[in-house]
Order: sequence, then C-alpha cells, then structure tokens
Amino acid sequence: MLLIFDLDDTLFKRLPDHYSEEQLRNIQAFEGVYELLNRKDIIKVLVTKGDSSQQQKKIHHLKISSWFDRIMFCSTDLEKKECFLQAHHQFPHQKVYVIGDRIDSEIRWGKELGFSTIHLRQGKYKDLLPRDQWEIPDYEITSFKELATILKLP
Ligand SMILES: [Mg+2]
Repeated sequence: MLLIFDLDDTLFKRLPDHYSEEQLRNIQAFEGVYELLNRKDIIKVLVTKGDSSQQQKKIHHLKISSWFDRIMFCSTDLEKKECFLQAHHQFPHQKVYVIGDRIDSEIRWGKELGFSTIHLRQGKYKDLLPRDQWEIPDYEITSFKELATILKLP
C-alpha cells in the first residue's frame, strides 16, 4: 500500500495567510497522524506545494520527515500531479491512495491517474463543490483519525 499525503490541512491545521515564526513553531499534527505515519507496513510519500523552505520548516516542526519514504516539493498544481506519478513509478505494484483536503487538486489528480482518493473534508477548502466527476472522491472523511478505518488497517 502506497499512501500519498498532502501537507497543509491534511496533516495539520493550515496557518493563516500571514503567520509568525512563533505560530509556525507551534504547529501540531492532527490526532492520529503519528500513529499512522509510524507504521512500517505502509509506504508513505508526502507531496507538498508552496515555497519549499517554508514547507520544510513546517515538516521540521511537525517532526515527521523520518517517517516518509519520500518527500516531494512542487511549485504548481500540475507539478503535483507529476509528483504523484513519480511516486507511483518509484513504488510500483502498490495500491495507491491519495489523501488530501482539496478536491480540485489532490482528489482530481489522484482520480485522473486512476488512484483511490480520500478527501479529508476540513479546513479552508472544505466547502468546495465538485466541478465534475473527477472531483468526487472515492471516500470522504472529516478527521484524520478516520483514515485507519477507511484503509481497513488492523
Ligand atoms: Mg492541503
């Protein structure tokens, strides 16, 4: 099983548009994140869009980097789709799930690539409406800790 995760509003609550260093230092992962990332029987890839030095700081403060098999930074949404594909190529023969909070990004790209998609419906973009069938996720959850149930993890 290969899980491809988004970062902001997927593993922690997104910061406001203009945030301080202190706010950045105090970010906390959602309940259930550490337990899931700590599992050795799952391949985990993080794909995050945005300024890579800021995204790296978030990852650093969340103390999650060592749990990922790969961390990928991208600067546009389309690059994000390319990253999903690269992750799949690096870890072939795995059932792929994409987990993210944006139906117009993670869910769309995941579905277009034929992966299973899990929409974590929370945060800034939780009320976006699907523009077409590609933005309708396979699964929808409202908190990260529901993920283990969706994935039928023992
Ligand atoms: Mg996000």
